[in-house]
Amino acid sequence: MEQKLKGQTAIVTGASSGIGAGVAKSLASAGATVIVNHPVPATKSAADAVVDEIVCEGGTAISCQCDVSKEDEVKKMFADVVAAHGTVDILVNNAGLQRDAPFTEMTLEQWNYVLSVNLTGQFLCAREAIREFIRRGIVPERSVAAGKIICMSSVHEVIPWGGHANYAASKGGIMLMMKSIAQEFAPKKIRINSICPGAIQTPINRGAWGTPEELKSLLTLIPYDRIGQPEDIGKAAVWLASDESDYITGASIFIDGGMTLYPGFSTNG
Ligand code: NAD
Repeated sequence: MEQKLKGQTAIVTGASSGIGAGVAKSLASAGATVIVNHPVPATKSAADAVVDEIVCEGGTAISCQCDVSKEDEVKKMFADVVAAHGTVDILVNNAGLQRDAPFTEMTLEQWNYVLSVNLTGQFLCAREAIREFIRRGIVPERSVAAGKIICMSSVHEVIPWGGHANYAASKGGIMLMMKSIAQEFAPKKIRINSICPGAIQTPINRGAWGTPEELKSLLTLIPYDRIGQPEDIGKAAVWLASDESDYITGASIFIDGGMTLYPGFSTNG
């Protein structure tokens, strides 16, 4: 792959599996030094396996434990990365999870947990990244922008999702947080965008593709008639992090095989 991100350092949160692992590999093959974030000691071996894969392919990566919902841990992760690598050029705010329940049975713990990782985690990481981008300013040899943030949102920032109100609320929240900070920091040449995946084949949604019947039912929601793969998101993340997308900020980019095209209306509705 062309080394569009050569010399740049990227933090990818929640990168020990699924989309985050795919994005980490894509950014590394585009030349970035990638910090493969994972949340707890139990996820270290999976994060190290992603690092090993990147290094075997000739890339540069290290793993870093940090729970993105904890302010002190996020501050430490950014301080450690700046101390070791000089700065951070790219943040991919990817960590996310689901704790599903019918609304009347949803506990406050389920509500708070999903919001704390999916939305507060993105706030904490974006705030540290932007502080660093402003401190460092533009380095023209690396990028015409002072920094780039990619927020992993979802088609559920616009598609309501019964039984998943906490998750949909977190993704709707990401949309307006992303657009608000994109507006606030565009004059500082910081670009902030979201990727909104449809159904991507990862552990988070195994229940939607784990059996042939589940996959067949899922495909009725996808006009392009295939489930997405982490590489579909990784390729777009490289482009959004590179100067090729320099005039794009505040955008939600849907990568969903047409899931947001209201497939139920493809004939007479
Ligand atoms: P996944 O479960 O494989 O990945 C989620 C990652 O987040 C895991 O590696 C997990 O360890 C990490 N994580 C959880 N809590 C964390 C914390 N507190 N701090 C740091 N990391 C933490 O699932 P995925 O599908 O790869 O999901 C990645 C992102 O993509 C999520 O934000 C998810 O909402 C979003 N997304 C996924 C799909 C899909 O179809 N797979 C669709 C739309 C959006």
